[in-house]
Amino acid sequence: MKPYLKRAWAEVSLERLRKNIEVIKSLNSENTEVMAVVKADAYGHGYERVVCCLADECGIKYFAVSNLDEAIAVREYCPDAEILILGYTPPEYAHEISENNIIQGVVSTEYAKSLCHNSPDTVRCHVKIDTGMGRIGLRHDSPADCAAEIKDMMSISGLSVEGIYTHFAVADSDAPDNVEYTNKQEKYIIDTYDELVKMGIKLPHMHFMNSAATCYRNNSRSTLSRAGIIIYGLHPDISLPIPEGLEPVMELKAVISQVKTVPAGTCISYGRTFTSPKEMQIATVTIGYADGYSRLLSSKGEILVHGKRCKIVGRVCMDQLMIDVSDVPEAKSGDIVTLIGKDGDDMITADELASIYGTIGYEVVCGISKRVPRIYID
Ligand SMILES: *Cc1c(COP(=O)(O)O)cnc(C)c1O
Repeated sequence: MKPYLKRAWAEVSLERLRKNIEVIKSLNSENTEVMAVVKADAYGHGYERVVCCLADECGIKYFAVSNLDEAIAVREYCPDAEILILGYTPPEYAHEISENNIIQGVVSTEYAKSLCHNSPDTVRCHVKIDTGMGRIGLRHDSPADCAAEIKDMMSISGLSVEGIYTHFAVADSDAPDNVEYTNKQEKYIIDTYDELVKMGIKLPHMHFMNSAATCYRNNSRSTLSRAGIIIYGLHPDISLPIPEGLEPVMELKAVISQVKTVPAGTCISYGRTFTSPKEMQIATVTIGYADGYSRLLSSKGEILVHGKRCKIVGRVCMDQLMIDVSDVPEAKSGDIVTLIGKDGDDMITADELASIYGTIGYEVVCGISKRVPRIYID
């Protein structure tokens, strides 16, 4: 089964990726294009194949990443794409931003000036406005003040302001106070844009939709929908359903290395946290926390074996873990097991694993480690 060792691997379905993009496009109005958020190695799915599939097969023209390294990686695969860096780039790298025709998110006038100071060529940017996320961006009491600063920024020599954007903090919640909070954030950026229009400035882009907003409060005023997690078929928040047709793109698999029958009273794994209450069939599986399968799933997680759920017994080790296969008598060494994904009629999602140990699906897929080869299924 070369070129990868059949031990622990992630299967990435490009077919589902393409389908998800179709669904996302159908949610957006004609005025809104998808900006695929591919930071963190495409949420752990792997840049190269994901970005090429999105650009070449889905017609995606806009990409967003978190930093310059990621932007340059995407540029290698997509010579013509528009690539926005959402996060910080040290100003001394400004020449690399312009050299690679990348768009930088700009958070203040001072930062914009230092970028231009460090680049002989024009630096393209979208100005980030902090409307309530409390992370990065311009902060002003009123949209009019915000627009005034943006107008001034436009006269910085060597800076090309091509858009404004903001990021929602709670668009993935339907609680009334959160909905109201997001309404305010949205109104603030739209008002800022409209203030600029009053001053005679019509920027090509204003964008504020993340995955949650794209699903639950799609607004045609946003020229881009910065869709991240839904591209990969996961939930912005586990408590809200996502639009029909979106399906998880990544599956995580490993194999059984050994099956043994143990008598009652047998301790399993480090710390002796599990002792068999009766005679059991225990299988050892070739994946562990060094692969990104969290140790917090010890004695809690379940794994699909021949379509049946089997509980993890004892602690997850660095490279291996043990499961109870007493109800799956056909389980044997070499069998493929599913840690994330479908097997038979059942499915375990990254979102489900996340909820077991108190995190989000985002962290689960981003955390699948480098050691796990990504295998692409067309
Ligand atoms: C990560 C990120 C996104 C994408 O968020 P999802 O919830 O995955 O859609 C959009 N915008 C910004 C600024 C981000 O940092």
